[in-house]
Amino acid sequence: MPAPEFQHTVGKTAAFSGTALHTGDKVTLKLHPAPVDHGIKFKRKDLQDEPTIDAKIENLKTVERATTIGEGSVRVHTVEHILSALSAMGVDNAIVEMDANEPPIGDGSAQPYVDLIRRAGVTPQDEPRKFFDVREPMHVEAKTGSLLVLLPDNKFRISCTQAGPNNRFTQFLSMDVTPAVFEREIAPARTFVYYEDVKPLMDKNLIKGGSLENAIVVRGDAVLSKEPLRFGDEFVRHKILDIIGDLALVGRRIRGHIVAVKPGHATNADLARSIVREQTRRSAFAAPRTIPSGDGGLDVDQVMQILPHRFPFLMVDRILSFETETKCVGVKTVTINEPFFQGHFPGHPVMPGVMQVEAMAQVASILLFRLAKTTSRIGYFMSADGVKFRKPVLPGDTIFVHAELTKSRGERLAKAKCHCVVNDAIVSEAELMFTFLDK
Ligand SMILES: [Zn+2]
Repeated sequence: MPAPEFQHTVGKTAAFSGTALHTGDKVTLKLHPAPVDHGIKFKRKDLQDEPTIDAKIENLKTVERATTIGEGSVRVHTVEHILSALSAMGVDNAIVEMDANEPPIGDGSAQPYVDLIRRAGVTPQDEPRKFFDVREPMHVEAKTGSLLVLLPDNKFRISCTQAGPNNRFTQFLSMDVTPAVFEREIAPARTFVYYEDVKPLMDKNLIKGGSLENAIVVRGDAVLSKEPLRFGDEFVRHKILDIIGDLALVGRRIRGHIVAVKPGHATNADLARSIVREQTRRSAFAAPRTIPSGDGGLDVDQVMQILPHRFPFLMVDRILSFETETKCVGVKTVTINEPFFQGHFPGHPVMPGVMQVEAMAQVASILLFRLAKTTSRIGYFMSADGVKFRKPVLPGDTIFVHAELTKSRGERLAKAKCHCVVNDAIVSEAELMFTFLDK
């Protein structure tokens, strides 16, 4: 087991001022320390009551050219560069206070924010970091040709292909994202825009603060910028910068490998949403780590008063809780001493899938017997539909068996939707039908 990584905040308040991109006004940004599990919050110092907005994907409002978040009628624009710097430099908790609706644009890169974080310092806190570990590939894509794939990896990696109109300025870069790599390779990369995209905005006076001071402008094959390119492949580096910033809205650190082709704020946000959805799904299935005793569940004696099954065929050690009359979670601890491991398979013990179906059936039977208030009957399997075995169950695993009665006709026929969970992942599922006959 690797040592747990701890959450970090900034050591002290630090500030910097500059021009807001959209309004052209002067804005001062202050970075403040925040307690554990606070996350990143933006504070609008210029508004009455100084409202704060959580940097969470749920608060995403628009993704045109820049990322805007908001709560109620309050907005903050262009949050991706400072979020990128905070995330990559290892700051989990901070308050970003501003006296305007967007951070100072600086030179269009994340460099000013890295400098700010350096001045504030980064200090560890007492609670472990929250991670999103990629278990299975995920992907999002858009009609624009933008594609993001997220693959399992024990580090946070990004491999990115950037391509402009007609595939001009096609660039590729792959890296592990660490604070040192970010500071050296990514943070200095500036925003770039296509002339045909910004011309209408300039005409409408929508980017008053925009200039060659804070963006590279691409016009045809020409690259216009105040200073020479900082990297030959500065564009793909800035794309990686934006991906990190947009995915900071997940609110957890990602352990996985992002493979991006022509990424943009919209697909970045789609991926962030998919990750949060997957995390929510996992949390919903996560069973408590400690098994409660007392009211609410059944211990093994009570289970055996209801079920006729005995060793080696009793597949429920205990019922954790009854969520409702028709829904409960049972536990089966799988040890190497299970008789079936002797032959399934010698030297490579795997719990037979049918035994998991049996465990689901037994937990579902407990629900039914309790509902019918009788144990004088015995349940017979009639069918098992949609049976899926997703992952092997091994000696030492604790199976959480979830069962829900979906239909019971009279007192003789019942249907139950069941799934088995090990380490927060579904290992098997089935829809079972039973009939009940008197013993
Ligand atoms: Zn950007």
